[in-house]
Amino acid sequence: MTTVAVIGLGIMGAPMATNLVTAGFDVIGYNRSPHKGGRLVAVGGRTASGLAKAVRGADVVLTMLPDSPDVEEVVLGDQGVLAFAAPGTLLIDASTIRPDVSVRIADAAAARGIRAVDAPVSGGEAGAVEGNLSIMVGGEEADVEAARPVLNAVGSTVVHVGPSGSGQTVKAANQLIVAGTIGLVAEALVFLEAHGVDTKGAVQVLAGGLAGNRILDRKATSMLARDFQPGFRVDLHHKDLGIVISAAREAGVATPLGAVVAQLMGALRANGHGSLDHSALLLMIEQLSGRIHA
Ligand code: NAD
Repeated sequence: MTTVAVIGLGIMGAPMATNLVTAGFDVIGYNRSPHKGGRLVAVGGRTASGLAKAVRGADVVLTMLPDSPDVEEVVLGDQGVLAFAAPGTLLIDASTIRPDVSVRIADAAAARGIRAVDAPVSGGEAGAVEGNLSIMVGGEEADVEAARPVLNAVGSTVVHVGPSGSGQTVKAANQLIVAGTIGLVAEALVFLEAHGVDTKGAVQVLAGGLAGNRILDRKATSMLARDFQPGFRVDLHHKDLGIVISAAREAGVATPLGAVVAQLMGALRANGHGSLDHSALLLMIEQLSGRIHA
């Protein structure tokens, strides 16, 4: 039986670990704050009291951590994954981080005989729970093939998009599209409310036409109810838009709409809303429109 160590049992990592157990893997989870392993243990997984205990003896290490410095510390640190993993171990980083950091991690892993792929995911908490994430994978062909059984247990669309770091580049494009779409849906909802039309009916008919999109399908109802429980935190999307802006600059391409939505996301965070769901971008549009919802 393949043993998978899952490092980071947060909103995404916990349900992904659970789905790995369901798919027949031996799963050992580790999270810095220890109270997060309850669901994993309830379905038959195990938890470790330290990173070393989780990683030693694992065939695959899957990291699902917030940001680039977290992954660097957990993988490259003195007491990190590379210090404890046996040669031949497969490291799958599913976190969304900077593409250049993924490349550096893959190089450091290779120097120790450890195979590494970047495999950021899209589909949100619902996708993680339902096991139908979309996964964009960067790395060597053979390593990506080796990762497929694990990735197929947590996702339904798994695509190898190029060498190390490519998964992160595709994920950055994903985050650009998602943030821009949320921004436009937020503007449309504030616009519709200002005109006093039936917003629920409006969302229904908009979703059926060319304006239809996943944000309308999945987020409009909670946005109308001003329910911004995360989901995907503003703090994390702010981080991702930083990746988009610097990667676009590096490539010499213009992302003018991305720049605007990055500013709006940053302003939302600066106003103390970093731990709300990213659909709370609606609050910024309301504020700019002088329409603060009761
Ligand atoms: P989260 O904050 O809920 O989970 C991260 C977990 O990692 C937390 O439980 C935290 O305690 C743990 N952690 C942090 N540092 C650690 C360390 N040094 N050692 C062990 N554990 C540590 O975040 P999340 O929403 O699950 O997101 C994880 C990653 O997935 C991020 O990169 C995010 O951008 C990406 N992502 C999130 C979503 C979403 O909808 N939430 C969707 C796609 C991608």
